[in-house]
Amino acid sequence: MSDFDKIIVIDVNECVQCEGCIAECPHDALDIGAGGYLFCIESLCTRCGACIEICPVLAISFDDED
Ligand code: SF4
Ligand code: SF4
Repeated sequence: MSDFDKIIVIDVNECVQCEGCIAECPHDALDIGAGGYLFCIESLCTRCGACIEICPVLAISFDDED
C-alpha cells in the first residue's frame, strides 16, 4: 500500500479539540464541524501525517495502523 492509499482516521472520542492539527495541516484539510467534532476533507488531504505527529492524545491514525 502506498502512502496515498492511507486514509486518516479520527477518533472523536479521544480528540480534545485542541485544534493543533488544524493549525499544523499544510492543506487546510481539517476542521471542526457544527457538532464540535473534528473532520477531514479527504479531497484536500495528502496523507502527509503531520496531524498524526502533532496530536497530543494520539486521536489520529492511518487506517492501516492501530
Ligand atoms: S495527513 Fe496531512 S494533509 Fe492530511 S489532514 Fe493530516 S496534516 Fe492535513
Ligand atoms: S490535535 Fe488531536 S486532540 Fe487536537 S484537535 Fe487534532 S485530533 Fe483533536
